[in-house]
Amino acid sequence: MRRHFLQAVFEQRVPPGARLTEEALAETFGVSRTVIRQVIARLVQDGILIKQATGATNVAAPTRSETKKMLTVRHMIEPEIVRSLATRSGSLSFDALKSHLDKEDQARAARDRATLVRLVGEFHLMLAQMTDNPILIRLLTKLQALVCLAILLYATEEDACPKGEHRGIVEAMIAGEGERAAEIMRHHLHHIEEDLQLDEIPKVDPHLSGALRWLRDRSVG
Ligand SMILES: [Zn+2]
Repeated sequence: MRRHFLQAVFEQRVPPGARLTEEALAETFGVSRTVIRQVIARLVQDGILIKQATGATNVAAPTRSETKKMLTVRHMIEPEIVRSLATRSGSLSFDALKSHLDKEDQARAARDRATLVRLVGEFHLMLAQMTDNPILIRLLTKLQALVCLAILLYATEEDACPKGEHRGIVEAMIAGEGERAAEIMRHHLHHIEEDLQLDEIPKVDPHLSGALRWLRDRSVG
């Protein structure tokens, strides 16, 4: 269930900030509330769901500043991942990555956005999985899911991973060129960050109660 929930996040089907109830989730998955409570607890640990002081559970809605910090961590980690994988290129199989890239191309050609956004996210997780380091895999799963939610909030382009860059990274790794792979990954993460427009001044969020307060203040005297 956690995996399916994460998949829905990766496919950008889950609205950031949405309120979830145990009842609705238990009914959706056809399981007891005790089971769903465990799933929720795990997703809260992952940072994908947030438990409020009132007891309500919401989907995370990362702020611009939080998103910037997550991308900073990815900048520190992901170029190093591809660099170290490239140094082991002789003993690693890149077949799964190559067929994954073909699937990305197919989804792009078919204009299947949900599949494409999931696949481009999974690409980054596959790189982490190739390191065989469970701490790294867990950390990147969390960062990737939260960045997916941030994309829904702040992205300007159709999809966050520009076309062709994943292939460039894989080709450099296969050639054993670690520095080039790391360099393309740095550019790639920079493009993702640019697309998210994290320095933009946030728009005013119109809210009826705020508007009524504003009108009342002006009608006094
Ligand atoms: Zn990417």
